[in-house]
Amino acid sequence: MLDVGRGALNVLCSMKRAIYPGSFDPVTNGHLDVIGRARKLFDEIVVAVASNDEKQPLFSLEERLALLHQALDKIDNVRVAQFDGLLVEFAVAEKASAVIRGLRAVSDFEFEFQMALMNRKLEDSVETIFLMPKEEYTYLSSRLVKEIARLGGNVSDFVPGPVAEALGKKFAR
Ligand code: ADP
Repeated sequence: MLDVGRGALNVLCSMKRAIYPGSFDPVTNGHLDVIGRARKLFDEIVVAVASNDEKQPLFSLEERLALLHQALDKIDNVRVAQFDGLLVEFAVAEKASAVIRGLRAVSDFEFEFQMALMNRKLEDSVETIFLMPKEEYTYLSSRLVKEIARLGGNVSDFVPGPVAEALGKKFAR
C-alpha cells in the first residue's frame, strides 16, 4: 500500500510539465501547431491565458478560455488555465520546468529573447523553450486574423471553426 503510494508520488514528481502562456485573443492554428509540438515533449502542457494583459483584448477572458477549451477538447495532456501576475511565479506554483514560446520570424526574436533572459533572472529553475510552427503558420498572428475578420475577410484557414464563428459575430455588420 505504502509502496503504491510512493510510486504514484514518484510519477507525480517526475512529471514534466510546461506552461504555454499568451493572450490567445483569439487562439489560432499557429498556437495549436505549437501546442501539438509541445505536448510531444512534455507530460502535460498548461495553456495559460494572461488575465491582466495590458493589451485591450477583443475577446473577454471568459471568451478566450471557452474558445481554447473548444479547440483543445479532444486533446489529452493539455490543460487550459488563467493566470495573472508573474509568469515565473505561476510556473513554479504549477511545478512546471519550462515555458513554451512560439517563434515565427526574426521579428519575434528580440522581445522573446529579452523576456526569456528576464524570466531566467527572476527564476532560474524555469527554462524557456522556443518552438517553430509549420511554415504556413509563420505569418499568422491573432492580430492579423482580427484585422482580416474586421474587414469581412474569410479566416477559416487560420483558426478553428468556433473561433471563425465568434469572430464573425464580433464583426457582424
Ligand atoms: P502574446 O500576447 O504573449 O504574444 P499570443 O497569444 O499572441 O501571446 O502568443 C502566445 C505565444 O504563441 C507567443 O510565444 C507567440 O509568439 C506564439 N505564437 C502566436 N502565433 C503563432 C504562430 N502563428 N506560430 C507560432 N507561434 C505563435
